[in-house]
Amino acid sequence: TKEMLRQSDKLSAIGQLAAGIAHEIRNPLTSLRGFIQLLDASVGGAQRNYCQIMLSELDRINLIVSELLVLAKPQAVRFQPKDLSELIRNVLSLLESQANLKNIQMHASIDEQLPLISCEENQIKQVLLNLCKNAMEALPDGGEIYVKGQQVSAEHIQISIRDNGCGIDPERIPRMGEPFYTTKENGTGLGLMVSQRILEDHGGSLQIESERQKGTTVSIVLPVCVKSASQV
Ligand code: ADP
Ligand code: MG
Repeated sequence: TKEMLRQSDKLSAIGQLAAGIAHEIRNPLTSLRGFIQLLDASVGGAQRNYCQIMLSELDRINLIVSELLVLAKPQAVRFQPKDLSELIRNVLSLLESQANLKNIQMHASIDEQLPLISCEENQIKQVLLNLCKNAMEALPDGGEIYVKGQQVSAEHIQISIRDNGCGIDPERIPRMGEPFYTTKENGTGLGLMVSQRILEDHGGSLQIESERQKGTTVSIVLPVCVKSASQV
């Protein structure tokens, strides 16, 4: 246990360092972005194209840095009782227009009167967003996504996100959630790892089931808020 403590000290020191560096990287990125936008407005032809490439590459750096920031956990997390069905609807409405564009139908079926969960709202939204985005990205030619929320035991709520997309080879499933493991041209390979980490922090878990060409179901389980359980 002494060795484990030393390890976790080391990890939290590394986390803090990473968070510090991430913040330091973000500020110059913001000013770079601003100047490139100015440049973009004053040049023409091929140079415009270069500006667009620079902007999208900057956005990619930003995305990676923000995902690393979640991992480093610099923010003080405040757990509060929240209604999951509201969070789910919230996330789905964020994705609605993108889904329409890609010819994807999103269906939600959420049990009435789900008990509250104790969570950091933005982090759980991040998880739902990451998983729904993966489902959408598995449907390049459109398709269906079903989001289901239900109470599975006195203490647990389950949310499952199912798509009828490309699926995953069984031997690749264990690799998902490894840092930087991606099969996408523009992927970061951080979404699932970040999600898993957030769920662990909430005492929850994540499970992936998939069949090649048929689709994928990602289920997460979260503990019910103790207060709300005792009120019921
Ligand atoms: P990214 O989306 O940036 O690639 P993730 O950590 O979110 O990173 O996902 C890692 C990999 O897991 C993806 O590149 C993809 O191969 C696979 N994956 C995740 N979700 C799905 C899904 N719903 N359907 C098919 N493959 C998936
Ligand atoms: Mg992803």
